[in-house]
Amino acid sequence: MLLDAQTNLVTDLKIDQFFEPQSKYLYQEYVQKAVQYVFSFLNNEKFYSGELPNDLRSKTNLISANPNSTLSIDDTLKQIKELYLDHTIAFHHPNYVAHLNCPVLLPALVGDLIASSVNTAIETWDQSTSATLIEQEMIRWISSKMQLPSSSDGVFTSGGTQSNFMALLMARDHHAYMHYGLNLKENGWSDVVSKFRFLCSEKAHFSIRKNAALLGMGYDSVLSIATDDNMKMKPDALVQAIEKEKQSGNIPIAIIATAGTTDFGSFDPLSTIAKIAKEYDIWFHVDGAYGGCYVLTDTHQHLLQGIEQADSITIDFHKTMFQPVCSSAFLVKDTKYFKYVSYYADYLNPLEHRDSACPNLIEKSIQTTRRFDALKLWFTLKMTGEKTIGSFLEKVHFLALDLYHTIKDDSCFDIAHKPELSTLVFRYKANGIDNHAIHDTINLYIKNTLFKSGQASVASTKLEGKVYLKFTLLNPKSTIEDLLKIIQMIKETGSSYKTNN
Ligand SMILES: *Cc1c(COP(=O)(O)O)cnc(C)c1O
Repeated sequence: MLLDAQTNLVTDLKIDQFFEPQSKYLYQEYVQKAVQYVFSFLNNEKFYSGELPNDLRSKTNLISANPNSTLSIDDTLKQIKELYLDHTIAFHHPNYVAHLNCPVLLPALVGDLIASSVNTAIETWDQSTSATLIEQEMIRWISSKMQLPSSSDGVFTSGGTQSNFMALLMARDHHAYMHYGLNLKENGWSDVVSKFRFLCSEKAHFSIRKNAALLGMGYDSVLSIATDDNMKMKPDALVQAIEKEKQSGNIPIAIIATAGTTDFGSFDPLSTIAKIAKEYDIWFHVDGAYGGCYVLTDTHQHLLQGIEQADSITIDFHKTMFQPVCSSAFLVKDTKYFKYVSYYADYLNPLEHRDSACPNLIEKSIQTTRRFDALKLWFTLKMTGEKTIGSFLEKVHFLALDLYHTIKDDSCFDIAHKPELSTLVFRYKANGIDNHAIHDTINLYIKNTLFKSGQASVASTKLEGKVYLKFTLLNPKSTIEDLLKIIQMIKETGSSYKTNN
């Protein structure tokens, strides 16, 4: 009896925490208080406090979820400030130039708050109604920017990795169906699939190989094609590779071109590759996770010419359209390709109840329950507008170029490339040392020292086996002066390594 009474007491108090009409002022209060704490995050001086991993790990009383916890909103917010908001990474900070994380737009945050609160699940019409129409409109909008044919279609995904997974899966199943009459979706593996080969450049994203492995085809089903001095796939090397594979009895089934490689922002020659794919009658996928959104610019549109011939396209709005994670899409030239992933479940979307007026987006997705991620993009297009977004993207590109011109003759640096998008890859060179391994160590030392001290976050990558530093510029409010301050820190840290070691 006593136990029951206690349980009821707790339940009674916490029952107001559900989102519903009676709790609307509590909802408002919670959101307003949360916003105050987000202000404290915005007021952090550095991009990162520099707190050591072990110090963060030792905050066990904050991290642990006590089974009897009934903290107030204020106490909980205080805890999350101390544990997270004071120490997490600020992508909007001018000294954050590491990865493909953009600062986000306020309209997108409003869209995300609404989508999370209303909690639409977008997979079926009866869970989403007009949300489905909004997602479809966002797909139609980006497809028309890409000049895809009217048969085209698409779906929102969790990111470029998932979109690339869908592309590889469709390319494989389509090839098996068209050329061997096989229905892999229904009947599973067939021996001939072991001979299927994907072709992409050696600078393509790792998710191509990873996804090939997840599809049961192994890393070796992906062939890396050499790139030229500008980090673009060489078409003659591509043709040679296709011919060689065919001669050895393998079956090239798809070319994956990259529009904006992750490290160098380089665009493979899409029109030429489209022609090659057509000639060999194989799937043409464009991974535009980074560069796809540059279709909104005047400066880069021409680099995307040929994308309109793609069988499928990956595009990440959470990289280059200033959207919070996740916001991403997978596009196909022909909506019928979605048959390779569709499934009709009795309880959700039975085939016999299919109704074109009430579409069920689950038929296009490899997810079931799925967030309404299109809403933040809709807010962005309404309030910020596609022209402005295009101008932000141009701005970060010119910033990268400006930095390139400013440091290219500096004897402290080896520059890997001239930026085609908004990254710059370069290597710090210590005077009087010409040992590669020592330079690798110094460059990693620079990256780690700047991160640990909370001064700046710079990425590193490898080119021809050597360690390079990388700036990824996605903040249109950053200036060349901001970047030159980081360059100065790099020089100082580099020369301090020399004197200390
Ligand atoms: C980032 C990236 C991906 C992966 O996208 P996620 O959204 O992180 O899953 C794929 N391809 C390229 C070219 C990328 O830059």
